[in-house]
Amino acid sequence: MASAASTRDTGPVLEAVGLTKSYGDVDALDGADLVVDAGQIVSLLGRNGAGKTTLLSIVAGLLTPDSGQVRIGGIDVAADPVAAARQLGIAPQETGIYRVLTVAENLRFFGELAGVPRSELRHRVTGVADQLGLGPLLDRRADQISGGEARRLHTACALVHRPRLLMLDEPTVGADVATRNQLIDAVKELADDGAAVVYTTHYLPEVVSLGADIVIIEQGRILSRGTRRELIDRHRTAGLLVGFAGTLPVERLADLHPVEESPGYWRLTSELGVAELVGRLGPDAAQLTSVEALQPDLETVFLAVTGRSLDTEPGHDGEEATS
Ligand code: ATP
Repeated sequence: MASAASTRDTGPVLEAVGLTKSYGDVDALDGADLVVDAGQIVSLLGRNGAGKTTLLSIVAGLLTPDSGQVRIGGIDVAADPVAAARQLGIAPQETGIYRVLTVAENLRFFGELAGVPRSELRHRVTGVADQLGLGPLLDRRADQISGGEARRLHTACALVHRPRLLMLDEPTVGADVATRNQLIDAVKELADDGAAVVYTTHYLPEVVSLGADIVIIEQGRILSRGTRRELIDRHRTAGLLVGFAGTLPVERLADLHPVEESPGYWRLTSELGVAELVGRLGPDAAQLTSVEALQPDLETVFLAVTGRSLDTEPGHDGEEATS
């Protein structure tokens, strides 16, 4: 079918240009551009309120931008929302499955809605169910499955028609490790088959596992984009993790963007040596309990780019992976 992802697809699937959206005084999007090619996974990385959901909602045609343009597979979303929607699979943050239908009925419903031919529907439903570990639950009503299974079904409904553009908004919130891995594998498989994917998460190891192009968004603006390696090379800023008894005099270290990671421990974005830090603190240096050098990682990149922490676990950006 025309809307299915295909290995023949190349070039941009999503072209969002100059998007702005305000709610009263709040600029939820302030001139955001996002282009995603066939086969590419892009991870939107941003703090709460950065504008990720607003961006996804505009691309999906659920929200009208104040200005800017969105094309999906070359189709202008504003001019032909129905044709554009056929190219799209979206799983918003809130799960949107029908509880009184079975797992299979939910998948069939969303497949039919997206225009999957009847002759292909059965194959698609069992295929996506197996991919996400829902095979044994196909005949179970959706109000009798667990929260994690419901989340997988929610994502499966967005995948069943093999969309050219897949958008997942924090699909693994509350998911266990097995669910998380199944979702990531399913997303990678769809991208390998030629789909463009936009994936939002706060969980950095996931971004690394996906091998995604990372887009850092803050206050409605895209501030940087690249692979994890490219971002680390571009924004190479080491850090210090400083233990301090009492309250760190942050006003004297403001240029180092101090962020309290946990009680008594502050992360500083800095190439500063210990001697220089001690000099900067003066007599307060006596309250230092520890100073640890941190290697550049996605967390220090995020801090360097936005001046703020992503609020993730310290030093936990999936360094074990190699992308
Ligand atoms: P999160 O990670 O918490 O889901 P987000 O990056 O998806 O956040 P958005 O939901 O896009 O952020 O919100 C962007 C900004 O717009 C925030 O300041 C938010 O408070 C504001 N906002 C979003 N929707 C509305 C609305 N309907 N009315 C008013 N303000 C809104």
